[in-house]
Amino acid sequence: MSSIEKVLERLRTAHEHQPTFLQAVEEVSEHLEAHVRAHEDDSLVRVFEVLTRPDRVIEFRVDWEDDNGDMRSNRGFRVQFNNVLGPYKGGIRFSAAVDLDTLLFLGFEQTFKNSLTGLPMGGAKGGADFDPRDRSEREITRFCKAFMTQLSHHIGPDVDVPAGDIGVGTREIGYMFQQYKQIRNVHQGVLTGKDASFGGSLIRTEATGYGCVYFTKAMLEEQGDALEGKRCLVSGAGNVALYTAQKLLDEGAMVCSLSDSDGTAWFEGGLSREQLQNIIRARGNRVRLSDMENLTGEYESETSPWGAEADLCFPCATQNEIDEADAGKICESGAMAVIEGANMPCTAKAHAKLLAGEVVIAPSKAVNAGGVAVSGLEISQNRMRLSWDAERVDARLQEIMRDIHDACVQYGRQDDGPVDYQRGANLAAFEQLARALKFTGLV
Ligand code: GLU
Repeated sequence: MSSIEKVLERLRTAHEHQPTFLQAVEEVSEHLEAHVRAHEDDSLVRVFEVLTRPDRVIEFRVDWEDDNGDMRSNRGFRVQFNNVLGPYKGGIRFSAAVDLDTLLFLGFEQTFKNSLTGLPMGGAKGGADFDPRDRSEREITRFCKAFMTQLSHHIGPDVDVPAGDIGVGTREIGYMFQQYKQIRNVHQGVLTGKDASFGGSLIRTEATGYGCVYFTKAMLEEQGDALEGKRCLVSGAGNVALYTAQKLLDEGAMVCSLSDSDGTAWFEGGLSREQLQNIIRARGNRVRLSDMENLTGEYESETSPWGAEADLCFPCATQNEIDEADAGKICESGAMAVIEGANMPCTAKAHAKLLAGEVVIAPSKAVNAGGVAVSGLEISQNRMRLSWDAERVDARLQEIMRDIHDACVQYGRQDDGPVDYQRGANLAAFEQLARALKFTGLV
């Protein structure tokens, strides 16, 4: 048994009931085995051990009052995974599906992703098993405040700077920011993804989706190809999906779908700009895609976009949304690449199937790093107490995504075949983290 495998065995025992976290770790470990062997450097095994154990896991109860005046409780968490590169950084997710397994996986991924941005940010993730979809605006406000009352003890601009994720957007960040300010009496950049009126960065809302398309552009250019005229399937209807769609339209590609957990909206002749603007507006008012038939045209319940004819697939909804069967359909459809906008949207078996079908996988920790990268730029702007214009932020985002792409190529180039972007992303992030861990004496 290799040394990496021994670390994995211990993790499998310790996290027996946390399969999603193990899935994320195993994906990285596959590429590390060969890397450790090639470098004959056992200290890398110790690096792997440190990077797979969170620095700190915080759990708290969130008590809040619903509209009937009844008190309710939810589970709240913050997983501060690793701060070797900088203060902890990562989103907050509000969804019924949030549990420790999900947040361990996301915190682990975030550590690698943040490393790829080249900005000084550690990795963390937090959230609560609270489903905002069933709740009134007043209930959401009360929940956000109650959540921050607990979280405020564990964060700070030099400690941990959360942002949004599924179920947490600019509005929720605003409610939480206000609560932090009331508790501490300080107006600090303790959260990113704020509205631009009180310290948010321009382009932050669009950044993950835009970054995803900038990465795709770089990838296609590498093969002498371009986005123009490409048929694209996009899943999801959150900000990653919507701004991926927007940038795809800017690049002259055709967006054939969006989706949510109830089904898929198909756009026969391609999504138009006007349609997308209306959908963005409606989603901003918390309207579900399935209730927008007038805007989307055709909505098909209980289906996902995968398998429809396409050149490129952009899973931008949530983890493990593409399983082995979906991957099989994607291979048959003739798609050339799956570009992972959501965090870890493919199961391990789906990845294997796609690779066997010679479909290129652009991995989430590289593809969706644009969001947290602009969060990093928001931190810098807050520190300097100034705001950059949209062009400046967007130009920096483009540079960062290009650098991430090039690092993936550097570490993922195979002698005899195409670039292995998964291996490239994992090793580029790992090397940076390993260097920092060695210099801080942890390894
Ligand atoms: N939740 C986002 C992600 O998965 C952004 C995190 C951040 O901006 O801190 O990367």
